[in-house]
Amino acid sequence: MSGASHQKPQRLSCRYVLTSRGWLSDQSVGIDEAGRITDLAPGEPPWDGFLVIPGMPNAHSHAFQRALTGVGERAEDAQSFWNWRSLMYRLAARIGPDEMERLATLAYLDMLRSGFTSVAEFFYLHHGPDGRPGVAMAEAVARAAQRTGIRLRLVPVYYERGGFETALDPVQKMRFAHASVEAFEDYVRALNGIPLGVGAHSIRAVSPASLERVGAFAQSFGEGLFHIHVAEQEREVEQSHRVYGVGPIAWLDQLGLVTPRLQAVHGTHADPKERRLLVERGANLVLCPITEAYLADGIFPAVEYFDQGGSWAVGTDANVEIDAVAELRLLEYGQRLSSGRRSNLADRRGIGTRLWQGAACGGARAVGFPVGAIEPGAYADLVMLEDPCLLTGGDPDLDLDAFLIGGSSATIARVYVGGVLRSGSGRSADEVAFRAEAGHLIARLREGMVSRTGSG
Ligand SMILES: [Zn+2]
Repeated sequence: MSGASHQKPQRLSCRYVLTSRGWLSDQSVGIDEAGRITDLAPGEPPWDGFLVIPGMPNAHSHAFQRALTGVGERAEDAQSFWNWRSLMYRLAARIGPDEMERLATLAYLDMLRSGFTSVAEFFYLHHGPDGRPGVAMAEAVARAAQRTGIRLRLVPVYYERGGFETALDPVQKMRFAHASVEAFEDYVRALNGIPLGVGAHSIRAVSPASLERVGAFAQSFGEGLFHIHVAEQEREVEQSHRVYGVGPIAWLDQLGLVTPRLQAVHGTHADPKERRLLVERGANLVLCPITEAYLADGIFPAVEYFDQGGSWAVGTDANVEIDAVAELRLLEYGQRLSSGRRSNLADRRGIGTRLWQGAACGGARAVGFPVGAIEPGAYADLVMLEDPCLLTGGDPDLDLDAFLIGGSSATIARVYVGGVLRSGSGRSADEVAFRAEAGHLIARLREGMVSRTGSG
């Protein structure tokens, strides 16, 4: 499944290509040995790609949660986010480095197939099943990225307490938490060689003093990215008001953490002032529409945020469905269902071009790589769309609207990461065998987590 890490310079000819200057037709994209775009020049058939758009950065993922897809959907199962979280902890407790590598490989293969070419892995399953600190779990994620070819930004996340006023539970203590911020910093430094960001789990799982320290560490480390879950649940917002006297984003701002480096994940229940604060401070908001629907979090009111010029990205979060265009479609449909109006997030180009380009641009900020735009200097992370019925040619904006409304991974013909074809050449025998084996693993991990139904 892995491909070449270095390559010969090449050119790919595109019938239509979505560049940072808009759509261009009949172009040839030059790519150097490092996988970066050198230039765009007039091109001619045969076309390597019909409709070519930037690879989508996945701004927020928990790869291991892929194994929980479909668990907890029966009437007697989890009814709230908090019940679901208990199931997720039971799963986490069963995952060692080998399981982690295979689940991440599976998730990353599916991301590539659906047009995600890079991923910010928000990572808190730090310690192995014996609870001993070490880097084996994080290195397993890095191996999965290497194996599949997705561009990884690993975001180790600091985890300190069970809630605003509760201690760590056994799984949190054994698998997620470090003894101190210093111990966490040493752990992060030991991951050198892997492109890193830094995160804190949430304002409920990290004390104010530690948030300030981790935020400062993030600033001095790598690209300076600081990721955090925020305002996902109403309960978190209520507790923040009770304990700190303000909402979660306002609280982060009081700690000096709402900056252009902030990747605020969810923000579902941010109040209007907090949403405005994100825009004014130049922070980036990471929306995860499929997971926010799956977990019954709620609908982020995106119209006003978009109109204010807020920066945003999408993440697959719990990875129950991995499909880049489906995330964007649900983002728009959520607005439709709550407003009773159509085309809420469209601009004069329609909805497809605006949403794909907006998410690709904000996603590049979340992963901290020169990606998300087809322009000289950026990595050649490219998604090539083909479907003679859905995409008919002549008007690429209309075709991208058709992709957004009616498309899926099946509309994607080929996906390149850094100029290397990573999806689209069919499933290799290796991949078929790997998927069968991963299925056995998931069945084993789910054992005892689904209530049995009788047969008569
Ligand atoms: Zn998350």
